[in-house]
Amino acid sequence: MIQKIDHLGIAVKSIDAAMKVYTDILGLKVTGIETVEEQKVKTAFIPVGESKIELLESTSPDGPIAKFIEKRGEGIQHIALRVDNLEAKLKELKEKGVRLIDEKPRIGAGGAKIAFIHPKDTKGVLIELCER
Ligand code: ZN
Repeated sequence: MIQKIDHLGIAVKSIDAAMKVYTDILGLKVTGIETVEEQKVKTAFIPVGESKIELLESTSPDGPIAKFIEKRGEGIQHIALRVDNLEAKLKELKEKGVRLIDEKPRIGAGGAKIAFIHPKDTKGVLIELCER
């Protein structure tokens, strides 16, 4: 079951620079900065009520976030939906013929189990499913 919007992923060139928008201008607080080397990304989470904003900065010029910014500029990169059972949801999507970037869950920032649906099957929106 899909429970809520877990977070919005925003691609930025610099977390240090982008963070100021959310802290200095909007008065929010950053709760955790973490590097996920496997995905060549540094992340910062900013809680907003029940959801979060996830800032994503590439740790390498050939990482997925660097490529995204090159093509589309800084901005919203993905929407993450919280599910109660990621494996079951992936199985259900596969049965519906939906293309998945991750056929199996992998571990993302904060130790969450995550998997991405291919944006070609979601009208251009990169959707992350996550289970915490
Ligand atoms: Zn995310």
